[in-house]
Amino acid sequence: MCNCVNVKMGSYDNQVTLKMPDGQLMGIDKCIAEEIKYIWSWGVKTTGCCCGHNIQEGYIGVIDKDTEFMKKSGYRVLFNKESLSDERNFIPKSHNNKKGELEYYEYEDRYRAR
Ligand SMILES: [Zn+2]
Repeated sequence: MCNCVNVKMGSYDNQVTLKMPDGQLMGIDKCIAEEIKYIWSWGVKTTGCCCGHNIQEGYIGVIDKDTEFMKKSGYRVLFNKESLSDERNFIPKSHNNKKGELEYYEYEDRYRAR
């Protein structure tokens, strides 16, 4: 979970506006903004995200083509009970760490080293 306090689901209270790699502006929840920027820096295309506002698990959605890369980077799929074959949403890594710090990304380092 994240550090939101009193932010309702669907609210834009805790967002920052980031410029996506394609130049489009996008409102992103502050708790996961650094992580989203990092994911974009890999060339992964996101379809949507939410930090969960400390109420429910957050998610980072990516396009089909990038799901394999996310898994190899150590991301866990956030399964959708309604559609178990849908593996396009991932649990933000910044939620795995109590201090809210990002873990760093072994796969990416290995991938770059080649
Ligand atoms: Zn949050």
